[in-house]
Amino acid sequence: MAEVDQWIANRTRNFDSSGIRRMFDLAANLEDPVNLSIGQPDFDVPQPVKDAYIQAIQDGKNGYALTQGIPALREKLQAEVDATLGHDDREVFVCSGTSGGLMLSVLSLINPGDEVIYFDPFFVMYPAIIELTGGKSVKVSIYPDFKLDMNQLEDAITDKTKMIILNTPSNPTGVCFSQEEVKGVAEMAAKHGICLVSDEIYSKFVYDEPYVSAAKHNPQAIVIDGFSKTYAMTGLRVGYVHGPREIIQTMLKVQQFTFVCSPHPAQWAGAVALDTDVTPYVDQYRVKRDRLCAGLADKYEIVKPGGAFYAFPKLPEGITGQAFVEKAIAHNLMVIPGSIFSNQDSHFRISYAVSDDKLEQGIEILNQIA
Ligand code: PMP
Repeated sequence: MAEVDQWIANRTRNFDSSGIRRMFDLAANLEDPVNLSIGQPDFDVPQPVKDAYIQAIQDGKNGYALTQGIPALREKLQAEVDATLGHDDREVFVCSGTSGGLMLSVLSLINPGDEVIYFDPFFVMYPAIIELTGGKSVKVSIYPDFKLDMNQLEDAITDKTKMIILNTPSNPTGVCFSQEEVKGVAEMAAKHGICLVSDEIYSKFVYDEPYVSAAKHNPQAIVIDGFSKTYAMTGLRVGYVHGPREIIQTMLKVQQFTFVCSPHPAQWAGAVALDTDVTPYVDQYRVKRDRLCAGLADKYEIVKPGGAFYAFPKLPEGITGQAFVEKAIAHNLMVIPGSIFSNQDSHFRISYAVSDDKLEQGIEILNQIA
């Protein structure tokens, strides 16, 4: 028998998912845990969206879709993008979730050895997809206040820098960068001729200020967004990308020979989802955010998050993330150690996309174990 390990490509070896797996293994025996670890909304897919999905399946819309997405969805998205950004050279296509869009962007733009800058703490997928394409991650720390420092960003830029990835509101911090910060990054990318990828998956979950895309300040920015979070459609796999036509055409070519298309019936659900007002959900999450921050204020240091449904408090003094998570699990609570999202082990992530009852229980346990 061959050693199958030798078959595994080197590009898969420099990242792993063992940290998160370890936590779920530990929590596997909990019966009714207070689970503040989940990265998806706790509300169900809105009924009209479910109906459209089922109807599409019943109507036989189950074959391949056009690579760029069904016109009923793509044209709606294009109209929305044109109305908000008004760029001449900005095209939209539909992809397999935001993850698909992110993967296509690095596959289409990153050559081996190219450097990609993003801010630490970061979304877990970034280091992995950059490794898969032979790029090099350059992480700019934004601890302890999660504010962006343009001097630090500029210092990280070299002649190998190809891309900056910006994610606001951010996973795992929930922080919404200010208009000034977003503009700063957008203009910095333009000044140095670097491609800006803006991951805007949480753009509808903002609580204090209206959302302004980085593309507003950089007409060449590539924006990646999706339906997973906004309409609780994480399993349906619909996302979209917009950016300069030539880049989009390249990403479409890569999509054609990899993902092929976003699931066809799910795209019909997406077209209906765009007509759904999510304000009531956002209003509920704002209340949960406020309750969580107030509930933890005495015992935890916490930067008040302006969006998404995460908070990223500092660990209590003298405990590692792993030990803290184990202690939480012993008290029936699931949270995620910050080291999964960072080079640093000093914080932990809470998702407050849970019922009010669970949130209260979570706050109580966190205060107990601090
Ligand atoms: N970007 C960020 C910042 C995320 O948090 C997530 C989901 N956790 C994604 C992208 C991917 O989402 P999806 O592929 O479901 O659209």
